Amino acid sequence: MFLSEKAKGISPSPTLAVDSKAKQMKSEGYDVIGFGAGEPDFDTPSFIKSSAIKAINEGFTKYTPVGGIPELKKAIADIFNEELGLTYKPGEIIVSNGAKQCLYNALYCLVNPGDEVLIPHPYWVSYPELVKLCGGTPVFVPTYEKDDFKMKKDVIEPLITSKTRVIVVNSPNNPTGSVYSKKELEDIAELAIRYNLFIISDEIYDKLIYDGEKHISIATLGKEVFNRTLIVNGVSKAYSMTGWRIGYAAGPEEIVKAMTDFQSHTTSNPNSIAQKAALEALTNPERKQAISSMVEEFSKRRDYMVERINQIPGLSCIKPKGAFYVMMNITKTFGKKIKGFEINNSTDFAQKLLENYMVAVVPGIAFGTEDFVRLSYATSLKNIEKGIDRIENFVRDLV
Ligand code: PLP
Repeated sequence: MFLSEKAKGISPSPTLAVDSKAKQMKSEGYDVIGFGAGEPDFDTPSFIKSSAIKAINEGFTKYTPVGGIPELKKAIADIFNEELGLTYKPGEIIVSNGAKQCLYNALYCLVNPGDEVLIPHPYWVSYPELVKLCGGTPVFVPTYEKDDFKMKKDVIEPLITSKTRVIVVNSPNNPTGSVYSKKELEDIAELAIRYNLFIISDEIYDKLIYDGEKHISIATLGKEVFNRTLIVNGVSKAYSMTGWRIGYAAGPEEIVKAMTDFQSHTTSNPNSIAQKAALEALTNPERKQAISSMVEEFSKRRDYMVERINQIPGLSCIKPKGAFYVMMNITKTFGKKIKGFEINNSTDFAQKLLENYMVAVVPGIAFGTEDFVRLSYATSLKNIEKGIDRIENFVRDLV
């Protein structure tokens, strides 16, 4: 009865809900195969862990500058320079508690009440919630399986109104795994310039790209677009550091300064020890090897998962080029029954699969679509094999 209207408007993260249900069943002794994970299953590389232990032993355990220690900001600037050819000053970079906090800081500093934010649909669960928390209105840009789930200019343009302020670009994408080409990004950049939109480019999966595909940042497409883009990234996915909570963003100084001031009142600096660990992750020469072995393993798993799914009558998926997710099309199972229960949407599918065959997937409705469930291949090939066998049995048993 004391809850504010704002708090009442927040939905819990549905991806975490499925994962926790699966974990609970596991802890009760059930042999559950989890395809819900949003994090790499690999351990944080030991060179990173050692640097954190060193930081503790050296007493690096106090407040740091709010927006991150200078040496970490420098390492981030060096990475942007090396990988994207972009130059950022320290005042144009902020380090936060995960990419998620960067996104919250950014939206808070960009969105006035009633402003509209364009978000690719299917969407990563937190985008609409964060926009709403900041008083804005999420406006979804539909994307389709036939277009590899990528936003198209002619679909975006009619959605732009006098209230549209920001467009979110997320390549590689969660939940679809799609990777935008230079031309597709140029189209979005052209619209952003023409309609004076700010771009938030969430590039958290930039290292997880397959088939020799190259990550392209929209910020690299010329000075005009650079000046209106905030790149968001972090160490969570590329270095298996989800629990360390270090993300970073780079963009126009005025916005980054406001984000830093905002962060100074909400959380202060991100964890000092994790900052040292992130510094190591971004500067140690072993980093490239650690990433490439992870990418190689993910790529094998993706190939296997996609091939198996497409062999199951009634299921299908496209081959995603990035991240570690597959969107499995389940529409052909609708109207069929399991133990007398009719499957009519993604929640029915996910629930019955978990209850009867002990496989956890994320219902597409978590990302705004009923036609799919999301499978993460951030689990061993052995688990994938076992899990897909069970999915195959589940679908075969539907009548
Ligand atoms: N952006 C996307 C698209 C994600 O999928 C995630 C994590 O799942 C994040 C941002 C948040 O990452 P972090 O752990 O750095 O907060």
